[in-house]
Amino acid sequence: MNERTKASTSSKNKKRKRKKRSKGLNIFFGFMKVFGTFLLSALLIVVITGSIFATALTIYVLNYADTTTTVSLENITANYTSRFLYENPDYDENDKKSEEYLLYYALKNTNQHAVWTDYQSIPLNLSNAIVATEDERFLSHDGVDFKRTLGAFVNIFLPLYDDNQGGSTITQQTIKNLTGDDARDLSDGGAERKIREIFRAMNVEKSYSKDDILECYMNIISFATYKYDIIGVQAAANYYFGKDVSQLNLAECASIAAMIKAPAELNPIEDKQANKERAQYTLRKMNDIGMVSSDEYQKALKALDKLKVTGDIEYSSVTQYEDETKDQGPTSWFMDDAIQQSIEILEDYYGINAQEANEKLYSGGYTIYTTVDMDMQTEVEQKMRDKSNFVTYDLESDKLLSAFFCCNYYGEVKAVVGGRKKKKKSQIWSNATDTSRSPGSTIKPLSAYGPAIDSDLVTYSTILKDEPIEIEGEDGEKRKWPVNYSETKMENWSYNDFPVWTMLQNSTNTAAAQLVKMVTPSYSYNFLQQKLDFTTLNIDDADYAPMAVGALSNGVHLSELVEAYQIFGNGGKKYEKTFISLIEDKDGTVIYEHSDSYTQALDPSSAYVMNRMMQKVITSGTGTAAKLETTDLVGKTGTAEDWTDLLFVGCTPDYVSGIWIGYDTLKTIPTGDYQDSAQIWKNIFGDIAENEEHKTFEVPEGVVEAKYCTHSGLLATNSCSHTQTGYYKESNLPGYCNLGY
Ligand SMILES: [Zn+2]
Repeated sequence: MNERTKASTSSKNKKRKRKKRSKGLNIFFGFMKVFGTFLLSALLIVVITGSIFATALTIYVLNYADTTTTVSLENITANYTSRFLYENPDYDENDKKSEEYLLYYALKNTNQHAVWTDYQSIPLNLSNAIVATEDERFLSHDGVDFKRTLGAFVNIFLPLYDDNQGGSTITQQTIKNLTGDDARDLSDGGAERKIREIFRAMNVEKSYSKDDILECYMNIISFATYKYDIIGVQAAANYYFGKDVSQLNLAECASIAAMIKAPAELNPIEDKQANKERAQYTLRKMNDIGMVSSDEYQKALKALDKLKVTGDIEYSSVTQYEDETKDQGPTSWFMDDAIQQSIEILEDYYGINAQEANEKLYSGGYTIYTTVDMDMQTEVEQKMRDKSNFVTYDLESDKLLSAFFCCNYYGEVKAVVGGRKKKKKSQIWSNATDTSRSPGSTIKPLSAYGPAIDSDLVTYSTILKDEPIEIEGEDGEKRKWPVNYSETKMENWSYNDFPVWTMLQNSTNTAAAQLVKMVTPSYSYNFLQQKLDFTTLNIDDADYAPMAVGALSNGVHLSELVEAYQIFGNGGKKYEKTFISLIEDKDGTVIYEHSDSYTQALDPSSAYVMNRMMQKVITSGTGTAAKLETTDLVGKTGTAEDWTDLLFVGCTPDYVSGIWIGYDTLKTIPTGDYQDSAQIWKNIFGDIAENEEHKTFEVPEGVVEAKYCTHSGLLATNSCSHTQTGYYKESNLPGYCNLGY
């Protein structure tokens, strides 16, 4: 019984066909005897002759219009649920019951219940029951069962013939379902459609195996009640019996096959008795054909009496994912982005527009593996909702907005939160991925320090003076720029010397301006746009204020800022961020896999020197409030002009993450402490970071740790009185100090 029907061995088919046809003729003549009137015979001759002529004519016509006869089984229009999955954080590979992936969200059109299922998952009893009931010669015919076609023609004129199987084969019914071209009603101009259907059926049989046709058929036929639109055997198994299709017993298989003829009337919820009688017929046919033993037949008949019908529509789309039965509520922040990315992927893959891709996603039965870390996502969401984590702010008005974004060093997004409050609607504006605001000083490592170190224009300890550069204003006047602290707008330059790392640690604006001047604003701009993939930049941004202090015309998305910071934690590699690792279509074909290719934005040694400089931000600079106990953290704070936006981006050995705080419209945040963003980041992410697997960053080859002289910024000699440790690219070591002190 377990051996699958061998459907497409052609030599066998041919033998069977010959046998069946002669047997068919016998039945035909038997039929003639029953109604053995001269009138009927004459009528039949007319009908047969007529159909032969029609067929000949059609062959002639179709030779010139071949395209109308081609039907692709891939053009399935039913609504198959697409599923977003996530990696089970508690997965245990030694526990057979443990699932590696769990359901995150099931995306479906609300009124139709359809779940695609592979031929391999469908029990042989079910496909046999369907074949026995709907088209017993399915395995031997070439798409059209001429005996039945004839019967159907006769039935138009003499509706006496017991038309238990109808005129259409499974192949023809499949075509009817796929094309919507219903040739059932022959008396209403349907003869032409019927002939077209016959030719299409014969063509489909040439292009596809019997298994392919049966798989398609079983996934598109209706099991609808008057209330619910249920499509395909999986949804039927789920709805009527509360089971996965693979778990159906023989009686249940017969009951399902029994519905196909007229599902609304023959389903066991609407009419238990009618379903039972037709299921008995199905079992009898199966027994007659030899698909089941008489023992199995008898047992199944008894089981039919005790058939347990569930009829739970909430279970209608369930396969292996339990939570699918529950009300899913609005989509999460992460799901919103995963849906958006899926649409973009489908657009690219199929060469279709966003609207078409959206429809495809909701009805295509895709399996989408997301990159979310569900434990992290849950914890971060919960902490973002807790007002006490936003310590210093007057939250009485409750208008303060915030966003959080985290990915690993392969660009895989692990957590995203687009708002501080509980999300109540699906697919809404996200402050993490939609809002674009000034990055403030968080731009400096990307636009100024990174490129300057990478271009060997400065080292870790090159001495810079806190003094302005001269830039030309719009009026053509030269002026000194920039001031160091935007809120005072005062000319507060100290003219003191500091090593590069100290300038970054203290976020000194003048130093950033000097570095951008060295690399040139257009170099910085191109670096951000081409190497780091910022999408919100504008050509006007290739200038000093945008590149040195983050005064960009359109700002940046928090998500893109965090994505760019990958380079400081993984040796300069910039992976494209992704919410999705893999997408399979409903047949299991992989249509997307996150690429492991990357842009080497900085040399690994440059990236590590930057990393060490940014560690100083945390240990003794503007970000000390974020400092962790056990895990290394490097990062940068950012404050937009007039304190309208606060940011912190931090790299820990396993993750890069960032937080943004601001208002809906630009408004000063009631705080005077630039440390606030670092503190809030720690409140949200600190516990997760402390528990990371890795505690320190890997040191790449080509980096040298050495003492330097704080007076000259050059490598220290024995004569140097004040020295500190610095990090250098082996390829760009400073010379030795020659000051003599
Ligand atoms: Zn010295």
